[in-house]
Parts: sequence; C-alpha cells; structure tokens
Amino acid sequence: MSNEVPVPEEKTGHQKRQQKLKEQVDARIASATIDKGLLLVITGNGKGKSTAGFGVVARATGHGQKAAVVQFIKGGWECGERNLLQQHGVPFAVMATGFTWDTQNRETDIAAAQQVWQQAKQFLLDPALNVVLLDELTYMVAYDYIALDDVLAALQNRPATQNVVITGRGCHRALLELADTVSEVQNIKHAFDSGVRAQQGVDW
Ligand code: ATP
Ligand code: MG
Repeated sequence: MSNEVPVPEEKTGHQKRQQKLKEQVDARIASATIDKGLLLVITGNGKGKSTAGFGVVARATGHGQKAAVVQFIKGGWECGERNLLQQHGVPFAVMATGFTWDTQNRETDIAAAQQVWQQAKQFLLDPALNVVLLDELTYMVAYDYIALDDVLAALQNRPATQNVVITGRGCHRALLELADTVSEVQNIKHAFDSGVRAQQGVDW
C-alpha cells in the first residue's frame, strides 16, 4: 500500500481562495512601507492589558532595544515582570508608596501622580529609549490627576522613533485619536468572579 498523498491536477476551491487571500495579504504587506514610533493603547474591561504592555517591553528588550516602564497604580503585590525586567536593565518609575485603588486623599494622590509623571516625561524625551510603557496612565487622566493636554504634548513631542504603550480602562477619546493602534480587551469571564483570588505568575 502506498503512503503517497494523491496530488490533484486542478487547484481545489480552497486552494484558490487561499491563493487569493495570500495575494491580498502580500499586497498589503508590500504597501506598508512606513517606519515610525507607534503609540499603542490597550484598554477595555477584560484581563490582559498590562501583560500585553509588558509583552511589548519584553519583546523589545529581547532584541537588545532600550525600554522603560512607568507604573501609575501601585499594586498590592510585588510584581513578577518588574523582578525580571530590572535584571535586564529596564528602569522602572513607580507611583510613590501609599497610592492604591482605595485611595482616600486626593491631594496626596495628585502629588504622587505628578511625581511619577515627571519621571515619565523624562523617558518621553529620551531618544535612546525605543519603548516606554505607561501602565495604568488612563486613570490619571480620567481622575484629572495629570492634565490631558500635558500628556498629549509629551506624547506628540517624543522622539519620532519612540514607541509608547498606554494601558488602562476607560481611555480618554483624545488619546485614542492620537494612537496608531488601539486594542480593546473585552471581559468574557474572569476567574475572580468564581471566587478565585489573584494568582502569582498569572495576575501579578
Ligand atoms: P493584567 O495585569 O493581568 O494584564 P489588566 O492590566 O488587564 O490585567 P487591570 O484592570 O489593570 O487588568 O487589573 C489588574 C488586576 O485585576 C489583575 O490581577 C487582573 O487579573 C485583575 N483583573 C483584570 N480584569 C479583571 C476582570 N474583568 N475582573 C476581575 N479581575 C480582573
Ligand atoms: Mg493593568
């Protein structure tokens, strides 16, 4: 018995459709000739925004590029990605101690936000940085802790080759408009709703 797979003389309908699709994709790839620093926004209510942002930082770092991270919301746990990326020389600017979701004092929060924003602005001026992650920046704008115009100006004036990733829910329309790529992570379900607490390595 032969193991040879019979080769049809004529292309099947499937092959023809695939061929056409490949031609269309190849044409689109050939027409995309621009290189530029991108503004990426990852927003929405589902899980995966910050991990996607850190994925970009890891990807760039893996190519030997320079990246920096700004964390605008300090989590309750130590952060696995910070432990890893700092070993690879990625600088982190983190919101001063005390700032969490359950904040009570607006003045203290604004001061903490402004302090970390000054560091973010230095990153956004640095032509040596290929990637800057502004994790949870959206809330700073939504709460008016950092002025929208200040954020827009810093993004617009950054080095032309610098990529920036903004994460967080409820991203301001002006940032969505300025962005080159916007993804919305939709919540279909989350284990937390079934009583599972945040898991090391997956959630932090
Ligand atoms: P991650 O850091 O896992 O990528 P995220 O950045 O999309 O999540 P955030 O809104 O910043 O989500 O919340 C961070 C924490 O809240 C994570 O521990 C995450 O697992 C959890 N979380 C995210 N989305 C949901 C959700 N829809 N319901 C419950 N918990 C969530
Ligand atoms: Mg997040």
